[in-house]
Amino acid sequence: MLGQQLQPGLHQLPPALFGSEAAGSGGGHADPSLLHGLAPSRVPVITPGHEAAGEIDGLGSPTPGWHVGDRVVLAAGKACGTCRACVAGGGLDDCLDQRVMAFDYDGAWAEYVVVPVAALCRVPEDMPLEEAAVLADAVSTPYAAVVESGRVRPAESVGVWGLGGVGTHLVQAARLVGAAPIIALDPLPAARERALELGADHALDPTAEDVPDRIAELTEDAGLDVAFDIVARSGTMTQAHAALGHRGRLVLVGVSPDPLDLGPEAAYAVSRHTTIGHLGYRKSHLQELVRLVSLGRLDVSRSVSAVLPLEDIAEGIRRLESKEGNPVRIVIKP
Ligand SMILES: [Zn+2]
Repeated sequence: MLGQQLQPGLHQLPPALFGSEAAGSGGGHADPSLLHGLAPSRVPVITPGHEAAGEIDGLGSPTPGWHVGDRVVLAAGKACGTCRACVAGGGLDDCLDQRVMAFDYDGAWAEYVVVPVAALCRVPEDMPLEEAAVLADAVSTPYAAVVESGRVRPAESVGVWGLGGVGTHLVQAARLVGAAPIIALDPLPAARERALELGADHALDPTAEDVPDRIAELTEDAGLDVAFDIVARSGTMTQAHAALGHRGRLVLVGVSPDPLDLGPEAAYAVSRHTTIGHLGYRKSHLQELVRLVSLGRLDVSRSVSAVLPLEDIAEGIRRLESKEGNPVRIVIKP
């Protein structure tokens, strides 16, 4: 689940008023889903935008370590503060009623946004805010899927179904931890080409009939150690599950309107497969990514496909939905 390592009681700290002309807000796949009612929201009218970076414009009462003008990227969640786990002193990862920015409270498609100080993650001076904004969710969710849910180890074979923004970053994260080979699958030739450039060893069209044979060949008949399904439709799930080897793990990333269809139950029992659901990230993942980008281990510069002013947000959504120019993320700069 999306989460932060909050300290007990931190949800009671005063919020930080965040924002500035430098604010960037990634236009992610979840935002159009929210607009079309495909993603859950507990409130009827809300400001979208759950991937955001910028400068602190104002602070509540004492917030040790933070100052106006500090550059930050936001973890997009907060603990409810009242559930059994929160009352017992747990943080957001334990909270039984987690709140997600842009789904349960106002997000960052705006000039300013108010967030708990615990959501702040420092961005070094040499990192563009546009790249920092992309790290929240678009990179941190697939990164968390690789390092935490999938627990990918060096030399494990990995398949990635769906090479939009999240899938592209998942390929990069798998490369970062040493997965080999990395097999990327998407019907779009441009998406496959991009995955190859960013670290995939092979790229396949999942609609081709010989996909199972090709994956078997590329894994020396062992099948995949880990299959990541970012599309999460019944067709991709079935194909991804069928490609697993002995003790393979299928990681479902994201939210699907389809019922789960994983094929014959026997495959699970005999091959000891595991299916893992994955959503979101912890704040610690975001902090790790800031460090990896800052130290040159991870390059997300290609993930900022365009930067648009806030008033052109409808145009940004149109480009994302029509996949015009095959965008990874379109950043809104209020
Ligand atoms: Zn709670």
